[in-house]
Amino acid sequence: MVLQNSALLQTQSFINNKWVAARSGKTFKVLNPANGAVVANVAECTEAETEAAIKAASKAFVLWRKKTAKERGALMRKWYELVMANADDLALLMTTEQGKPVAEAKGEIVYGASFIEWFAEEARRIYGEVIPTPLNDRRIITVRQPIGVVGAITPWNFPVSMITRKISPAIAAGCTVVIKPASQTPLSALALAWLAAEAGIPEGVINVITSTDAAGIGQMLTSHPLVMKISFTGSTKIGKLLMQQSASTVKKVSLELGGNAPLIVFNDADTDVAVKGTIASKYRNAGQTCVCANRIFVQEKIYNSFIKKYRNAVKALKVGDGTEAGVQIGPLIDEDAVKKVNRLLKDAVKRGADITVGGEGHGLGKLFFQPTVIEDCTRKMTVFSEEIFGPVSAIYKFTTDEEAIDLANDTEYGLAAYFFTQNLNRTWHVAEALDYGIVGINEGIVSHAEAPFGGMKESGIGREGSRHGIEEYVEVKYLCMGGL
Ligand code: NAP
Repeated sequence: MVLQNSALLQTQSFINNKWVAARSGKTFKVLNPANGAVVANVAECTEAETEAAIKAASKAFVLWRKKTAKERGALMRKWYELVMANADDLALLMTTEQGKPVAEAKGEIVYGASFIEWFAEEARRIYGEVIPTPLNDRRIITVRQPIGVVGAITPWNFPVSMITRKISPAIAAGCTVVIKPASQTPLSALALAWLAAEAGIPEGVINVITSTDAAGIGQMLTSHPLVMKISFTGSTKIGKLLMQQSASTVKKVSLELGGNAPLIVFNDADTDVAVKGTIASKYRNAGQTCVCANRIFVQEKIYNSFIKKYRNAVKALKVGDGTEAGVQIGPLIDEDAVKKVNRLLKDAVKRGADITVGGEGHGLGKLFFQPTVIEDCTRKMTVFSEEIFGPVSAIYKFTTDEEAIDLANDTEYGLAAYFFTQNLNRTWHVAEALDYGIVGINEGIVSHAEAPFGGMKESGIGREGSRHGIEEYVEVKYLCMGGL
């Protein structure tokens, strides 16, 4: 990996705008999933460095919150511009540690940067209110103030955008942050921190702790009295644990957790639009996103025409090292991910599913998997209830709208859902009936900084992006002015 700006490759934690090695001197390896090569040795920090970062963030909060929203926004705008100016390097860095094709990585950089831009602008719109008084001798006013130090924990599947989606609203509101990125993808987080410092964001406002001791760092962030808020993106299992841990000090929590997205193709869908949208939703990031179509329900009458085109589209996907031109599907993140896909396929086949495309590992290497289609899936299969997190389309046939809605909602998750139809009545009926925080209608890619992203049920608490994103990082304070 040769970066135009070699300073973007940092390997130590970032505390109070200084690069800090682990006190123990220990490091851990970051591997390239495409070939297993060691990309970097990164500081293996512990609770001690995390506590130093929390204290730095707490000290910085005093000054950062006093800056005007316009001043904070201007620094963020500069950061946004630097991220965009370094997009090619950041994309290459991301592909090298995460595996996604470089064009897709670049898309994530632009998407991730859009949160910095959006919240730089939103900083100036954190309004309070004057409420009509019930008594003539008093006035009721509210102000919205930054909550304080934020502890953020993020996953490997979107190494940049899951971080900017949290940091941007937090620092726009006047909060300061301590982030623990996923141990498989810390380099993108450190590059973002380097650019933030270059942009002039003051010391202590953004701190990054690198470590493989997620449980120890998580415990420190969720129990430390100086941390006022926990924002987590990752699995539902860990989200529940962090919520429990945060209860000891009653921290505000935002959770962006797992999904089990249904995607419904109705008889009256435009087949080409449905095939394109399903491919985009299912195969982005080799199927490793929380909003990937996990269960694809196709109505009887359109089944044959849809599936013929869909199988061909899946067969045409190019698998390879993400740095090679034209590659659409990179490697999976690690061997556990490959094992999970194999386990789900084995269970589905045992219970009657038919593999019609792919179905096994790819000759390119042990983390590559063939884009796969399995048909005749049923509710009894594990693939119906678990996130696949791999390049496998599980297809189910259905007859009535009621059946499709029942199947779609039959899960504890409620993050994203999709459906394809050209009928207006059906559009409203189905959109309102789906128990999901995000619904794509004739569209497979739905994330934007301007739109609220988040889940219902066990997919999470709170929303990221949009004007609602700021709410997670402010407290509403009520001022009662009496004696008037
Ligand atoms: P994960 O195992 O929950 O890990 C996510 C983060 O939590 C990583 O930084 C991880 O650190 C850390 N972690 C692990 N155990 C922890 C503990 N005991 N205490 C504190 N932190 C801990 O999830 P993943 O497998 O990396 O990510 C995939 C999951 O994220 C999927 O379920 C996906 O649906 C979900 N996701 C949701 C959204 C959304 O917006 N709703 C977006 C993207 C992904 P290490 O890396 O060191 O293990």
